[in-house]
Amino acid sequence: MKMQVLFSDIAKSGNHYEILDDSWLDAKELPRISPVEARISLVCQGESKVAVQGSLKTVIELVCDRCVNKFGYPVDVNFQLIVEVASDENWQVKELECTTTDLDTVVLAEPVVDLGDILRQQLYLMLPEKKICAKRCKGLCAHCGADLNNDACCCVADVKDSPFAVLAQLNKE
Ligand SMILES: [Zn+2]
Ligand SMILES: [Zn+2]
Repeated sequence: MKMQVLFSDIAKSGNHYEILDDSWLDAKELPRISPVEARISLVCQGESKVAVQGSLKTVIELVCDRCVNKFGYPVDVNFQLIVEVASDENWQVKELECTTTDLDTVVLAEPVVDLGDILRQQLYLMLPEKKICAKRCKGLCAHCGADLNNDACCCVADVKDSPFAVLAQLNKE
């Protein structure tokens, strides 16, 4: 499907897309466990401004920072933003209005909305800073590398009763 939409191709009643084709996202870049379902509506607000509204749903495969196991991270987001073509006039208006805008505004060089760019941006905004598979994730043993979620290793048995021993070990590293 054509992901680039010219402002001049947007109908008066708006353009509405249901995007089940996820070729806009490289599989290696962010592997998915479930297919991406996205909707986008574009509505013109004057000649150089378009209101974008949409939703994005998928499950991304992430690698846990603690235990290095892969896990599914569900993304289900509704978003709203404004895309605007940069012009001298717009820049001035933007400066005046910059304290009053509620919606995120993306400034474009050309009057073309790239639906893939918008979805990719929204998806990245949803990714967590710390990728942890579960709050209870115990991570890997610092000594032998065993996954402590699955089995307790011998080194854990040694220090388990003494949280201070663990701290001492961490301080050494
Ligand atoms: Zn984990
Ligand atoms: Zn161990």
